[in-house]
This record gives sequence, C-alpha cells and structure tokens, in this order.
Amino acid sequence: MSEAETKDSAKGKDVKKHNCSICGRESDVLICHACEDKLRGEALEKKKDVERAGR
Ligand SMILES: [Zn+2]
Repeated sequence: MSEAETKDSAKGKDVKKHNCSICGRESDVLICHACEDKLRGEALEKKKDVERAGR
C-alpha cells in the first residue's frame, strides 16, 4: 500500500503540467496545437456546410 502512495506522490509532480483536453497528451496549453488545428479545420468545414445550406 505504501508503495502505491509513493507512486501517487511522484505522479503529483507531473500533474502541474497541463494536458490537452482533446487528446489528453501533455501540453503547455489547454488544447495542444495539433488539436487546435484540427478544431479549426472542423470549424471551417462546418462553416462551409452552413454556407452551403443557406444557399
Ligand atoms: Zn491534443
């Protein structure tokens, strides 16, 4: 049991770093650049669909 506790406290050191809220990878920001680009692309595609539907 004490071993698990040691592991947990060791993990706490890394918890300070952020994790991408999309892919969960370690990242300095809330959403890593890869996912940011992906989200941007999806948003653009959605915009296109909306424009298409509007016409
Ligand atoms: Zn990500």
